[in-house]
Amino acid sequence: MNEIQELEAILLRRVADSSEPREVLKSPEIKALYARIPALDPSERKEFGQQINALKQLLEQAVRDKESADEDAVSEPLDVTAPFGINGTLPALLPTDGGSVHPLRQEIAALIEIFGRMGFVAEESREIDDQYHMFETLNFPAGHPARDDYDTFMTIQKDGDGESLIAPAHTSTMQNRILRKYRDRLETGEPIAAIVPDRVFRNEDLDARHEHTFYQVEGVYVAKGVHAGMLIATLQKFLEEYYGKKLEVRVNPFYFPFTEPSFEFALSCPFCEGKDASCKVCSGEGWIELLGCGMIHPNVLRAADIDPNEYTGFAFGCGIDRLVMMKYGIEDVRHFESAKLDFLKQF
Ligand SMILES: [Zn+2]
Repeated sequence: MNEIQELEAILLRRVADSSEPREVLKSPEIKALYARIPALDPSERKEFGQQINALKQLLEQAVRDKESADEDAVSEPLDVTAPFGINGTLPALLPTDGGSVHPLRQEIAALIEIFGRMGFVAEESREIDDQYHMFETLNFPAGHPARDDYDTFMTIQKDGDGESLIAPAHTSTMQNRILRKYRDRLETGEPIAAIVPDRVFRNEDLDARHEHTFYQVEGVYVAKGVHAGMLIATLQKFLEEYYGKKLEVRVNPFYFPFTEPSFEFALSCPFCEGKDASCKVCSGEGWIELLGCGMIHPNVLRAADIDPNEYTGFAFGCGIDRLVMMKYGIEDVRHFESAKLDFLKQF
């Protein structure tokens, strides 16, 4: 076996074993063969060159065969009805009746549908983000005391410099990206109208009303001439559609860095409408403080290169778990993440 045949065997083996077979075509051994041609006796050059070319062609064919075999392996259909678990036996925890969509996912689909009818598109949030999007773009500069209200989980930076990444404590972490993504619409007279219903995280002491992982829907609306009356009407319409009844709403001044003015938004208790002094949902007060909202702060618009003298907007953030708990009279937020099938099967 000559030298080129030996190399051929080695390189074919490499193609067969590689997940990136095309890389084998760039092997230094092949370059080294070509580099030797000028030093050869002129009578040997032609045959040697032909042997290298034949080797290359053989390898290229092997790479093409390997790539199409890999593709076939990937596109092999999966049999989702095949038995799983140990020896085809279902683990006791898994439902044997086919399961169902998680109640929070069902309710998120419902609220996407309601906001969709009002012209809002739905965007996903992230489960890890940087402090720039979580705080800076939202008018919480470094050291701002309101950052403490959003205590959440952080990553540790191994190299010691650079900021820690965080598990977002609100879906507002997407606000700057949404404003930038849709701001071209403003020039054509269309509003920016988006919601972000997704998972958020907090460092909480857990109890019936507090969970470390929960869901929030962020809403953003920007156009010319947007005012607080439109914010209140939008939220009231959404809540009436969601609960399927007329509701009274109440707005009190509040403080958030990213809205000015900011409001705490309350609605009349959908259960007792204020008529039951022993109502567990509203503690007999008849009102439920439900969400935070306000007019988007000019600095937040500026951070997305939108001129606050020309455009205004509103934003709101509402806990989805809370909405769902009130809708179905669920007494403990921890049920949602508990994987208790007797709870989940009711939906
Ligand atoms: Zn009530």
